[in-house]
Amino acid sequence: MEKNYHVCTGCSLLCDDIEVEAEKNKINKVHTACRIGVAHMKAGKEEAIFRVDNKPVDEATAISEAAAILKNAKNPMIFGLGASTNEAQKTAIELAKKINATLDDTSSFCLGSLVEALISEKIKTCTLDDVRNKADVIIFWGTDPSDSHPRHLSKYSYFPRGSEKQRGWEEERTAIAIDVRKSHTAKICGNYFFQIPPKGDAEFTDALIAGLSGKLPKTSYNYPPKKILELANILKGAKFGVIFVGRGLIYSLENLEPLFRLMKALNEKANFHLMPMVGNYNTMGFNENLFAETGYVNSVKFENGTVLHGPDYSIVEALKERTVDAALIVGSDPFSILPRSIVKNLLEIPVISIDPYETLTSRNSKVYINTAISGVEAGGSATRMDGKKVSFEPAIETNHPSDETILKKIMEAL
Ligand code: SF4
Repeated sequence: MEKNYHVCTGCSLLCDDIEVEAEKNKINKVHTACRIGVAHMKAGKEEAIFRVDNKPVDEATAISEAAAILKNAKNPMIFGLGASTNEAQKTAIELAKKINATLDDTSSFCLGSLVEALISEKIKTCTLDDVRNKADVIIFWGTDPSDSHPRHLSKYSYFPRGSEKQRGWEEERTAIAIDVRKSHTAKICGNYFFQIPPKGDAEFTDALIAGLSGKLPKTSYNYPPKKILELANILKGAKFGVIFVGRGLIYSLENLEPLFRLMKALNEKANFHLMPMVGNYNTMGFNENLFAETGYVNSVKFENGTVLHGPDYSIVEALKERTVDAALIVGSDPFSILPRSIVKNLLEIPVISIDPYETLTSRNSKVYINTAISGVEAGGSATRMDGKKVSFEPAIETNHPSDETILKKIMEAL
């Protein structure tokens, strides 16, 4: 019997080998997925919810209230979309153009600068399939995929046999963790865990570059030079190396220059690639789609056919400076992820929340529209963390509208 595989949208790995058992449009069993994926695939809801001022309404009322808020706003913001399909993201970009909105996503305070460097081809990257098939030296820097992307090590980066790595992790791969704490991933890396102090990444990078060219590596926090030289020697011997970069590294750096320098030094001696560990299942898609439209991956403002870009148009600055007077938040929960001192300003403007889940943001919104979960209840396409396009069909039927449908309806109602 032919098996019917589904795609999990629980993280940016977009695992496409998920089997489910469902009864009466409810998923009871999930096979192959990790613990995050199982919870995600089982999260389908009974009834669609539409609210205005925290009171239940029908879909049409919620749509017309959302459209009225955006129509009356002089400077609306659209934020989120990392957990939306490519189709919904493109619709949101059209909506932002139509209403002269500021448009941003979480990448403006996460890995956006690195993603932009990759999309602009300033840094060498590769695919996860290349990693599985070829990688011999794998670095996890400021990231803990065992927690955030649980099948990363087993499916791609460390444990699997690859076409050119038949003897696998036991003999042919070296996994290295560089982090401020001994994470689950760092424990798997054993002796190849390099613990550095908070904000110590730039210095460690420069010490490593010194080590690569045979100089004595020095840091102000006296990291043992011998250990850095040992690491440099492993990296020099890499036939196919990859650095998976997490927020821990990006938050620690003032800019990407140390990383550019390291990649240059590594590629003079070996063959290294870099991949950002984006979290949401389609952050990469949002960054690519916005880049294709504007030349920027986040923090833009549309203004009568022109595009403005810069930190002023990031959610953090826009809320700090109170420059936006309404917000449409799609599949994101700024009330949970931003500091209270900033996010409290959202309470002063009308907020529309479009989200498959009840969140702090949905509870603090003037309009809440509960949408289908992509991959579980709605189909579409998304871009995996390495840029691979993945299409999916819904695993179960639902009466919940997709965020793409809702965004289109709002646009029509304007
Ligand atoms: S690793 Fe990510 S995409 Fe794969 S099953 Fe787990 S949550 Fe889903």
